[in-house]
Amino acid sequence: MKQKYLLSTYKRQEVCFERGDNATLCDSEGKEYIDFAAGVAVCSVGHGNCRLARAISDQAAKILHVSNLYRIEPQEECARRIVELSGYDMRCFFGNSGTEANEGAIKIARKYGERDGSIKRYKIITLENSFHGRTITALKATGQASKHDYFGPYPDGFVYAANVEEIESLIDETTVAVMIELVQGEGGVQPLDKQKVQNLSALLKSKDILLIVDEVQTGIYRCGSFLASHYYGITPDVITLAKGLGGGVPIGVVMTRLKEIFSYGDHGSTFGGNYLSTVAANEVLDILEAYNKSGEMMEHQNYFETSLKSFALHYPDIFTERVGIGMMQGLRVIDSEVLSKIIDSAFEIGVLVIKSGRNTLRFVPPLTISKSEMDEGFRRLNSAMQHG
Ligand SMILES: *Cc1c(COP(=O)(O)O)cnc(C)c1O
Repeated sequence: MKQKYLLSTYKRQEVCFERGDNATLCDSEGKEYIDFAAGVAVCSVGHGNCRLARAISDQAAKILHVSNLYRIEPQEECARRIVELSGYDMRCFFGNSGTEANEGAIKIARKYGERDGSIKRYKIITLENSFHGRTITALKATGQASKHDYFGPYPDGFVYAANVEEIESLIDETTVAVMIELVQGEGGVQPLDKQKVQNLSALLKSKDILLIVDEVQTGIYRCGSFLASHYYGITPDVITLAKGLGGGVPIGVVMTRLKEIFSYGDHGSTFGGNYLSTVAANEVLDILEAYNKSGEMMEHQNYFETSLKSFALHYPDIFTERVGIGMMQGLRVIDSEVLSKIIDSAFEIGVLVIKSGRNTLRFVPPLTISKSEMDEGFRRLNSAMQHG
C-alpha cells in the first residue's frame, strides 16, 4: 500500500521509527526497541547523537556542497585523521558508499596491473561467501553465485577461492590483487584465521600482488581496533571503509599506499567527500577516538561479549557457536527457519537483530551502546526465546 511507489528490493517490517536515543529506538506508536543492528553496523555513535547533530546542522547552515573542483578543508582533515588513525602511509579518495569505495579499489588494482606494459594483470581473487557491493563490478567481486543471476554479462577477471589457503593455487601471471574481508559481514560473521591471513599477506608481497582489505563493515573500531587490519597485524595495500564512518551520513573511502596511482581525471565523484559527509565523519572520529582512549569502548565491547556468551549458554540446543570480534558478533543457529523465528519474536518484543548468511544471528550495535541498554536487550531476547 504505502510502498507501492517503491521497487520491491526489500521485504520490510511494518514499522516506522520516529526517533532514537543511543541504542534505543522509538516507533510511531511509541513502542521502544533496543537496537543491536545499528542500521547494519552504520550508526556507530548511536541515534540522536547531539554532538553529531550539532556538527551537521552547523555545517548545513554554512555550506553543504561545492564539488571537488575546489579545496574542501574538512575532507582534507578527514583524510589526515583516517590515515593517522590507520598508522599506514596512505592517501584517501572519498565516495558515498561501500560499493563505491570497492569500485575505487578495483580501479586502483586494474591500473596497477597496467604498469609494466608487457602483460596486463587484471585478475582479482576474492573469497566465497564474501560481500563487496551491488554495482555490476562489485557484485561480480562478491563470491556468491546466487546473487549473480539475471545481471550479466559481467566484467572479466574475478575468481573465487573457497578459503584463504586456496588463494595461492589460483594465482597466475594475470593476477593483480586479492580482495578479502577479515570478518565476513554478510557471510556469517566469520573471522579469518590470523596466521593464515599473515601468511597470505607475506605471499602476496613476495609476488607483487596487491592485498585489498574490504573494511566497509569491520573498520572504524567495529572489531575493537580502528581497523581490523590492526588486529590481524597486516599492512594492506588498499583498504576500503564506509558503514560506521559517517554515523549514518553516507560516505565511503578507498585508501592506498600507492599514493601516485591516479592522475587527474582517472577517478571522481560528484558528492564524494563533500562538507556534509566529511564534517559528520570528523565528528564521529572525534567521539570514537576519545571513547577509545578513555578505555570505555573496550570495556563496553567486553561487557557485550560476556553478555552475549552467557545469553547463548542458556540455549545450547539452538545456538551452536559464537563467532566474531569486538562489536561484530554472531551466534550460529541450528537452522535458518529457527533463525527467522528468533529475529521475528525479538522484533515483536522490542529488540532489533539481523541475519548474516544462512544461519547466523548478527549483533552489530552502536559502539556507544550503554550497559543498561545491553542488559535490557538481552533480557528481552531471553523472553523472546521463551515466548517465540
Ligand atoms: C555493506 C558492505 C558493502 C557495501 O556497502 P554499501 O554502502 O551498501 O554500498 C561492501 N562490503 C562490505 C564488507 C559490506 O559490509
